[in-house]
Amino acid sequence: MSRTARTGDSPARTGNSPAGDSPAGDSATGDSPAGADPRVVRPAPPPDEGKQGHAPNRAAARVRTSVTVPLRCGERTHRATVATFHDLVDAREHLAVLLGPPHPAVPLVRLHSECLTGDVFGSERCDCGAQLDEALTRIAAAGGVLLYLRQEGRGIGLYNKLDAYRLQDHGLDTYAANRALGMDDDARDYTAAVQMLRALGHDEIDLLTNNPDKRRQLERGGIRVRHVVATAVHLTAHNSAYLQAKATVTAHTLSMEGLRH
Ligand SMILES: [Zn+2]
Repeated sequence: MSRTARTGDSPARTGNSPAGDSPAGDSATGDSPAGADPRVVRPAPPPDEGKQGHAPNRAAARVRTSVTVPLRCGERTHRATVATFHDLVDAREHLAVLLGPPHPAVPLVRLHSECLTGDVFGSERCDCGAQLDEALTRIAAAGGVLLYLRQEGRGIGLYNKLDAYRLQDHGLDTYAANRALGMDDDARDYTAAVQMLRALGHDEIDLLTNNPDKRRQLERGGIRVRHVVATAVHLTAHNSAYLQAKATVTAHTLSMEGLRH
């Protein structure tokens, strides 16, 4: 009935440990009472390493806890379920935010990489805050999940991102600035996102993105992408050069109308 019922039943992912077999301590991390929320995700049982014939899948992650959080998106408040995970490859505290009608046949999914300046402070140097709002609103309508990935500054970190802004003020584009700092153009890796989707029982998704690399990485990880759904272009007085670089350097599918050249 729940997403995790499916997850827990999958030998390939969890080792098929029977429910209730969890060692003490693990289940105490937040198997909250299900309450009335049909979207509550129960923690999956830990891999059963002793079971014959089922070597634990080292690349599998498990749902750790889930909790209901009302989220304000635009004018509306949506009831979201926020899930945390065990065994993510990079050991970062990534979140899954489940929204909208529970158990959609094919969920609408957005991979959102953390951007403190854009998401929290509403910086207009990028389009992350507007993208986050748009994604939450659309997922709340369609049913699906936003993966909030803790890879700030396309993976280079917050301080490096701010240093790159300084270089951009001297004429470099967002990618050239990264390279001038000795960093990759885009250091983001979506292996943890693949793990999270699998832990939630989602092998097939509709992907909300303009970034072809996200689709490539998910499909490489074995997630089927049924449709790619384009996001809007969020142009401000301050981010046109940034959006232009995304379109020309990394082939983001952005409409160039309105962008300054
Ligand atoms: Zn940003």
